[in-house]
Amino acid sequence: MSTKGYYETLGVEKNASEEDIKKAYRKMALKYHPDKNSGDTESEEKFKGINEAYSVLSDGEKRRNYDLFGPAGVNGNAGFGGMGGFDKEGGFANVFGDIFEEFFGGSTSRGRGRRPQRGNDLRYDLTLSFEDALFGKEVKIKLRRPEGCSKCEGTGAEGGRKGGGIKSCGHCSGTGQLRTQQGLFIVSRTCHHCHGEGSITKDVCPQCLGEGSILNDKMISVKVPAGVDNGIRLRVSGEGEAGLFGGPPGDLFVLLTVSDHPCFVREGADILCEVPIRFTKAILGGTVSAPTIKGETAIKIPPGTQNGKTFRLKGLGFPSLKGYQIGDEIVKIRVEIPTKLTPEQKTLLEEYDKISVQSQGSDSNPFFEKVKNLFDVGA
Ligand SMILES: [Zn+2]
Ligand SMILES: [Zn+2]
Repeated sequence: MSTKGYYETLGVEKNASEEDIKKAYRKMALKYHPDKNSGDTESEEKFKGINEAYSVLSDGEKRRNYDLFGPAGVNGNAGFGGMGGFDKEGGFANVFGDIFEEFFGGSTSRGRGRRPQRGNDLRYDLTLSFEDALFGKEVKIKLRRPEGCSKCEGTGAEGGRKGGGIKSCGHCSGTGQLRTQQGLFIVSRTCHHCHGEGSITKDVCPQCLGEGSILNDKMISVKVPAGVDNGIRLRVSGEGEAGLFGGPPGDLFVLLTVSDHPCFVREGADILCEVPIRFTKAILGGTVSAPTIKGETAIKIPPGTQNGKTFRLKGLGFPSLKGYQIGDEIVKIRVEIPTKLTPEQKTLLEEYDKISVQSQGSDSNPFFEKVKNLFDVGA
């Protein structure tokens, strides 16, 4: 019960017209509607007060009694409970739903009767090899999902709709709701007879035991396009769970994970591949064999190739999912320094080193020359 007067609650004068009261009520009800102020108990209390005030002021007789005798004049049936929707079964949602139904044309009414409902979406995690992601593949996946029962057309009732397994509820004329006029609003409550379904099942379908759907294993073919990457979601339309009461099925979303490759690493559309070569080949130059997505290929290495040098092989990367572009393969040279030498190799290298020092005239290194200059300047 509100402690404020009803006129004050709705923010109208005592001589306000019916129309003014209606307007004020709509404005306040929208403002303090619990859907807009979820969890705010103050708004909820206000909302209750507004409804209470309106239930009295919108009713000519109650309003007269209230004007004459105050709250005592309307006690008993003018309280909030008098609205009819806030009983145990209907709860808040019922009367709130109806207010919004009137205001907005039924957009919030839900779950009434056997209305067609779209099935749930499903998610399937699929791991692909590097090659499959690169070239694309048609993958068969096994899904366990509820599918509409064939015997009862998904109704859960023996014989289905056509076979007369479902009768329209006589109490509510199949609407699932019993509606009564309360002042400005039509107040609905859930039909006790059919529990809001609007229809009554004569006998439960023996195949699905009334569920309307059965868990089935189904093989589904999923086309994975060439060039997909980790984390991409493929949508397979209509392969989710079956809809209810003739509603459309949901969609299947296939979430992709791509396995690592032993020698290729994906970098955007490009493929990086590190190729080890002997240090002598790096020095002398020659050809090295590099793996590519189309088999091995020979790459010419110029003399004096440094560690980390890269060579680009055009068009040997990932295709773009959206266009005609295609990435490259980038071959990165890794010069291997031997860690074990045979006596002969050691002798030859020592010989090489000796000649190198002689040809340079001294053991000096241009790098250290630079450092020395730096110190000279500072001194
Ligand atoms: Zn009914
Ligand atoms: Zn069935």
